[in-house]
Amino acid sequence: PFFRAIVRELDEKGIYHSIPPQETDPTDFKSRFLKKIRKLGEGNFGMVELCLYDPKGDQTGELVAVKSLKTENESSNLRREISTIRNLYHENIVKYKGICNDEGGANIKLIMEYLPAGSLKEYLPRNKSNIDQKRLLLYALQICQGMEYLGSQNYIHRDLAARNILVENESLVKIGDFGLTKSIKDDKEYYKVTEEQDSPVYWYAPECLINRKFYKASDVWSFGVTLYEIMSYCDRENSPPQVFLKSIGRSHGQMTMARLVDALEKGWRMPRPDSCPEMVYTQIRRCWSHAPENRVDFNSLIQEFEFFLT
Ligand code: ADP
Ligand code: MG
Repeated sequence: PFFRAIVRELDEKGIYHSIPPQETDPTDFKSRFLKKIRKLGEGNFGMVELCLYDPKGDQTGELVAVKSLKTENESSNLRREISTIRNLYHENIVKYKGICNDEGGANIKLIMEYLPAGSLKEYLPRNKSNIDQKRLLLYALQICQGMEYLGSQNYIHRDLAARNILVENESLVKIGDFGLTKSIKDDKEYYKVTEEQDSPVYWYAPECLINRKFYKASDVWSFGVTLYEIMSYCDRENSPPQVFLKSIGRSHGQMTMARLVDALEKGWRMPRPDSCPEMVYTQIRRCWSHAPENRVDFNSLIQEFEFFLT
């Protein structure tokens, strides 16, 4: 470490320039410099913590969000999430910073930028009085822009929900949680789920529940549910699971799924929240057409929201 190699390079005029030594890979985070501050949230498999990455040890480091797994045997999922998120570059997608993997194989961690306001699910109920409907539609537009980009890279998110939309500040949101994201192969239009895992069923389109097939249009359905959450300021009493269960009745285990599918196939949809204007509910309903090919796409949604916002 004391002997830094001074690298020199000839430029086109034949003059030597020294290149600053590249001592470390900026995406390689060392676990000994990562200081936990608090837990930010947790889902089925993962846990996200706010940490200070402080290699100088003088509290001048940067705040980062660190995702790790609750059980080590899920590490292949986190590896897949990392390989997805590190390829995504968009304003409305949470930024990848690097990984921490110096404690050996199974203990891999994903380092992301930290979004201080948390997810929409925490942010909206707390800041309701300062957020007007125009703001909500701006969030909707930004989510569609991120989703349009994701689709252009041939990914399906599969877990679009208010809990997975992160808030940078009052006028910028980003899509997060790529834990269920799948890449669609060039010759396919959909991704078929093979493993049975906890799925966010109340956000899922009928073809996902019935045939376990995920199309880009299945993300549009989930966006409709997310927009429903946003327009109701993520009110807990009127969350999608609550609304479904109130309507189809509580039951145990598999029965709920069967009833949910049955209701959707008969055309039942969550009703317009009181705080949601008709014209926005119309867009939500266009996301909830039974057949994936009849649904609106993210591009037309972008145009609708841009129109609403001008
Ligand atoms: P899981 O796969 O376990 O659902 P998520 O990636 O959705 O994990 O993160 C869980 C929660 O942690 C989110 O709902 C959000 O509240 C919080 N969170 C996640 N990433 C960040 C981040 N980069 N900045 C701030 N909070 C975050
Ligand atoms: Mg999540």
